[in-house]
Amino acid sequence: MEKITRAELARRKRINLYKKIILYGFCVLAITPIITSIFLLYKINKMEERLDYVLSEDGGDYLTYRSSHDALLGNPNAYGKLLSPSTRTVLGNTQPSTNVAENTLEDAAKGTANTEEATEVAGSGITAFGEGAGLPENTDGNSLAEDGADVDASEEAGIETAGKAKKNAKRVYLTFDDGPSIYTGQILDILKANDVKATFFVIGKDENYYDYYRRIVDEGHTLGMHSYTHQYQKLYASEESFAAEIEELQSLLADVTGVESHVFRFPGGSSNDVSQLPIENYIAYLNEHNINYYDWNALSGDAVNASLSPEQLVNNIMKDVRENKDSIVLMHDLQNVHATVESLQMLIDTLKSEGYEILPIDENAPLIQHVSCNSVEE
Ligand SMILES: [Zn+2]
Repeated sequence: MEKITRAELARRKRINLYKKIILYGFCVLAITPIITSIFLLYKINKMEERLDYVLSEDGGDYLTYRSSHDALLGNPNAYGKLLSPSTRTVLGNTQPSTNVAENTLEDAAKGTANTEEATEVAGSGITAFGEGAGLPENTDGNSLAEDGADVDASEEAGIETAGKAKKNAKRVYLTFDDGPSIYTGQILDILKANDVKATFFVIGKDENYYDYYRRIVDEGHTLGMHSYTHQYQKLYASEESFAAEIEELQSLLADVTGVESHVFRFPGGSSNDVSQLPIENYIAYLNEHNINYYDWNALSGDAVNASLSPEQLVNNIMKDVRENKDSIVLMHDLQNVHATVESLQMLIDTLKSEGYEILPIDENAPLIQHVSCNSVEE
């Protein structure tokens, strides 16, 4: 009796063991593809978000910026159209003209092995000619793109204000486009902790974001405009639609913060190729309304590649900043670009350790503009 029971027990134990092995085996077999699927779904979701962003108007800045400069790289004559001679006197200010002239396309491209990066860096080398830069070289696209020496020569030849800019080298203006976002608060906290003032080129958002507009102003940063909707089709459809976008945003910001913004950044930059009218038409509107626009000559690349690490973002920026005299740095305040937030402390530390002065855009800031022109009434 006892023996039978033992044998029976042993048999049952074995059966239980087999059951367990089969069960665990099944679990492993079943869970592996499930985990893999979840992981892949996550990745697909991320990529879709990225794709939506890139395809949407909201994220087109960098792409159009790049594509327009890819085209410029291949066609130096295009500069003839874009860089018209400038005697810009917006607001009657006597700002030093921004000369990032030594930072030519060719130079920038030379120093970079990877073509994609080269495009980014080269783009940042678009020369900005501010006030007083009635340079014949400007209208000659070939000389600009092909030979940086021409630009240097012209600089020596004629621009008095260039000397001032040289003395004040090492100014860096951090700018954040497309916000406010869920990360604006974090960006503001980091800036506050470091006692650094920056510039935010914001778009129109609902009341959930009004506190960020207010914080930007209250904490001493510059609140700049970046159009109300950031939708290229709408924004650049006509002079009327452009004016409506600016007015709507300007009055929203004034209502919320009590401050009327007179600083603007073109979605896609002033050198964008999505505008349906010549950009000069819109610049004329800005001039008439005492609104200064600023492009950039240094960028992190955060909007084109969300997988860049914070270190890479800082390296991209510093590479440009070290080549420039003054730098306006393009970054993005977007909910899918958290690396920008993560990179900010490192960027500030690096800039400070290398002796740069970090400033918000104000009337003393250099007019760094990809396309610079006088109003049409000229
Ligand atoms: Zn933008």
